Amino acid sequence: MSIFTKIISGEIPCYKIAENDEFISFLDINPNAKGHALVVPKREENKLFDLSKDEYNSLMDFSYRVAKALEKSVPCKRIGMTVIGLEVPHVHVHLIPINEMADMQFQRKISLSKEEFEAIAKEISGNFI
Ligand code: 5GP
Repeated sequence: MSIFTKIISGEIPCYKIAENDEFISFLDINPNAKGHALVVPKREENKLFDLSKDEYNSLMDFSYRVAKALEKSVPCKRIGMTVIGLEVPHVHVHLIPINEMADMQFQRKISLSKEEFEAIAKEISGNFI
């Protein structure tokens, strides 16, 4: 069982942004930038391109909505999107508010307090349509 499945079941806490029957979005716990969010299918699948086309398209649709909410919530040049999955073998889209290339490189991390995580998640969640 993946760590994200444990988050989905409520066994492990997260700073939640949005969810529906199929997907959940929450803040990355070790963010590249403020507002770094993950979008995860509730059905545990390892690799992005092992999703059905329908599930893939629905994941992109949900990610689009989270990205729109991020744009409204976090000042940045644009939202970067990437899928890696080498650390957690459960499909997830990274949505990262970026100002420079380094924000997409998973080397320079920022640290946020619990209160900051909570405030950002609440702000993004409030802008999620
Ligand atoms: P990837 O699998 O795409 O290489 O990286 C996994 C991402 O998930 C990392 O950015 C890491 O910080 C994040 N992550 C790993 N474990 C947890 C967790 O327990 N909670 C949250 N919110 N994010 C996590």
